[in-house]
Amino acid sequence: MSLAMKPGAMQLAVTPNRLLPSWVVSAALIASASAAWMAVSRLRAASRDHRGGRSPTSRVGNAAWGTVGVQMAAYELALSYAREREQFGRPIAGFQLMQDLLVKMLGNVTASLGMAVRNAQLLDAGDGSDAHSSLAKAFCASRMRETVAWARQLVGGNGILLGNGVARYFADAEALFSFEGTHEMNTLIVGKAVTGHSAFTR
Ligand SMILES: Cc1cc2nc3c(=O)[nH]c(=O)nc-3n(C[C@H](O)[C@H](O)[C@H](O)COP(=O)(O)OP(=O)(O)OC[C@H]3O[C@@H](n4cnc5c(N)ncnc54)[C@H](O)[C@@H]3O)c2cc1C
Repeated sequence: MSLAMKPGAMQLAVTPNRLLPSWVVSAALIASASAAWMAVSRLRAASRDHRGGRSPTSRVGNAAWGTVGVQMAAYELALSYAREREQFGRPIAGFQLMQDLLVKMLGNVTASLGMAVRNAQLLDAGDGSDAHSSLAKAFCASRMRETVAWARQLVGGNGILLGNGVARYFADAEALFSFEGTHEMNTLIVGKAVTGHSAFTR
């Protein structure tokens, strides 16, 4: 099984829509219409992937999309909060350390979106595999955990209050981190694909 990307596979016929905010796609250098079209395509294709039926491959790939959505929501909440919350007479968005958190979050969202898109492209082309989807899910879920933690950090003490919203993303992230295969199981699926050795059992 090969994890190599096929040259030219990024070329897609796409339908314009407004499902993704422009800040994500411009940072990822992915056309907005392309990324959003793939998201819709993945949901539609969940029951008809290349193996027929609703296979673990497409379910794990969809879980990767879920991790992207949680990160987007956490980032947008943090950015909005940073612009509005004032300390020392100015919005905390103007503090360099707060900007560092926002930029790290944006990097995670962008990287995860790119991986989820690419995995969906492979699945749609019939070239996807358990290993591709597991790599996307494991990577994006780890980035998601970082992103929601940075969002909570930026919101400060208010971040632990249920009414603020960040705590909800923490709960969502922990569920997503383990369902559709734990981080360890998805890692071992990729490990077997790249080494040829299964580490599931002794
Ligand atoms: C919110 C939520 C919804 C879920 N929905 C569904 C669902 O709809 N359908 C479904 O089938 N499942 C579902 N799951 C199950 C999920 O996909 C995991 O498979 C399940 O949580 C793992 O089983 P366990 O909890 O018994 O953990 P255990 O199997 O006891 O594992 C405990 C820990 O040991 C690790 N571990 C176990 N074996 C190994 C090994 N060989 N090598 C290294 N590490 C190992 C695991 O990764 C984990 O970290 C859901 C889970 C959650 C949290």
